[in-house]
Amino acid sequence: MLAAQSNSSLPFAGLRCPTCRYDLSGLTTPQCPECGAAFTPELIRRAERNARRRKWLIAALVMFVVIYAPYSWLLMDYPWSDYRWSWIKMWPGLPVILPVSMAGRNIGLEVDDGLGLIMLDLLGLGLWIGLAWIGSRGRKRLIAIAVVVLLLSLLNSWGLYHLYLM
Ligand SMILES: [Zn+2]
Repeated sequence: MLAAQSNSSLPFAGLRCPTCRYDLSGLTTPQCPECGAAFTPELIRRAERNARRRKWLIAALVMFVVIYAPYSWLLMDYPWSDYRWSWIKMWPGLPVILPVSMAGRNIGLEVDDGLGLIMLDLLGLGLWIGLAWIGSRGRKRLIAIAVVVLLLSLLNSWGLYHLYLM
């Protein structure tokens, strides 16, 4: 009986109160000693899951904006030519197209064919997902990464804009 009771504290190990974030490790009753909120371990786990999902969505959104928004000049009011459409189709890969083609030139690789463009798209989207995952680990980290990525994106976008006009 005693052993069963001490075991009942284990479901709370490493969890925090969904209401006030109080650390619930070692708790023996399903009630927060800090704010008095009653809960089940399932309820707390669901709250933790929702919090993680929220952080991930915010990070994904922030990273999407800083990675892809700098290329919005593609939507400015020039005529909608085939040339512009060909650039808009490359949008997912635009953040990596310059670094990859520069690296590719060094090892004699061309990325102009269809398969190469799909690889660039996947690389760009992978970069977005990866950075969002890292950024979802903490708010300060998210802000720091977002600032650095935004600066690099603006620089990259500026370079591509000149290529676009050529
Ligand atoms: Zn609480």
